[in-house]
Amino acid sequence: MSTEATVEKIVSLCKRRGFVFQSSEIYGGIGGFWDYGPLGVELKNNIKRAWWKAVVQERDDMVGLDAAIVMNPTVWKASGHLDTFADPMVDCKECKRRFRADELAHHVPASAHGHAAEAPVVRCPECGGELTEPRMFNLMFKTYVGPVEDDASVAYLRPETAQGMFVNFSNVLQTMRRKLPFGMAQIGKAFRNEITPGNFIFRDREFEQMEIEYFVKPGTDEEWHQHWVEERHRWYLNLGLSPERLRVRRLDREELAHYAKDTYEVEYLFPMGWSELEGIANRTDFDLGRHAEFSGRVLEYFDEETGEHVVPYVIEPSSGVDRLFMAFLMDSYDEEEVRGETRAILRLHKDLAPTKVAVLPLSRNEQLVPPAREVWALLRPHWMTQFDDAQSIGRRYRRQDEVGTPYCVTIDFDTLTDQAVTIRERDSMEQVRVPIANLVAALREKLEPA
Ligand SMILES: [Zn+2]
Repeated sequence: MSTEATVEKIVSLCKRRGFVFQSSEIYGGIGGFWDYGPLGVELKNNIKRAWWKAVVQERDDMVGLDAAIVMNPTVWKASGHLDTFADPMVDCKECKRRFRADELAHHVPASAHGHAAEAPVVRCPECGGELTEPRMFNLMFKTYVGPVEDDASVAYLRPETAQGMFVNFSNVLQTMRRKLPFGMAQIGKAFRNEITPGNFIFRDREFEQMEIEYFVKPGTDEEWHQHWVEERHRWYLNLGLSPERLRVRRLDREELAHYAKDTYEVEYLFPMGWSELEGIANRTDFDLGRHAEFSGRVLEYFDEETGEHVVPYVIEPSSGVDRLFMAFLMDSYDEEEVRGETRAILRLHKDLAPTKVAVLPLSRNEQLVPPAREVWALLRPHWMTQFDDAQSIGRRYRRQDEVGTPYCVTIDFDTLTDQAVTIRERDSMEQVRVPIANLVAALREKLEPA
């Protein structure tokens, strides 16, 4: 990330250029929900595709899954979410705003410290009003399945995709004839009724997860944990995140979730500080054990070599697409001086860039537009492209730079005689002349080097 990137600039860019809009904006929006615009959906899909390629397609020990968002509610009893997935919440009696009690602890006025005998009085950070006693607030969204709204029809929008993989353990093991170690990967929406969503798309109420549950023989779990920490760290570096703004941190014992034996976080240095992009937890046999207990099914693996039944341990690399989206945007944003003008640029990795190639006739001249459209038609089957003939060529290059398009192809008057076009590269602004007959091959070499 360049020093120029601020959250405000990225929010503004996202809205202005069609990456992210506030959900239901014409009605005043709704807190913690966002809509991904035409360029946003491309970037998001490219992040997911890059992840899937690395963790499913290129591996011999991973398979994919797409489980339902609404599951049998007993799943959440077994997972612990019904009983423990809650934050302490306080309400302001004056302005009615709601806060997380644990976050308000930072707002204690300095004068209140040092009186060990009495607990400091925390007041509303907005209006100074009196607060209610903390109440535990479950973060799961509740709904009803079927026509009757009663206790028997209550269901939940999943707060994580992980449980869909645990409850399908036997299905996948049997149908895919897997041996340990093996894993499942899943990408999907999850929902948490956060008391205080914030930092743009960093903490949403509806978000998308990319999760892996990797099943291993107990005793090999620590080794596989290290393997996944290294793999996942490398993935971010390969996609161009600045090494100096990326770190792997091992959580302290008191930070661990109740199910975890050990957890590492991949963290990115956002303007608001080091924040989690991905958690990589050793969940032991907690989940399979709990689901076996609550379902009455046997969720074990039969080891033919030793003749033993084992409950596998699980390594879980779990990341949030929306957070990664924000990190990649912040990290790639840059501003530089070009001939006395400021050029804003997204130096996105080409695999992530929403548009790979923009086709630009030098002007709207009637001789140039038809061959430019022919070139556009030639490229569309291969990559996401844009055609732009509005305003000066310089302005159009800047527009493409600002949304991270790696290559622009320009059709000029020479094209009419030499049947060649200019490819202009985003970062270096270097230009090369290429015959139209070789254009697809030339771009392929740049975008998909072997
Ligand atoms: Zn208040």
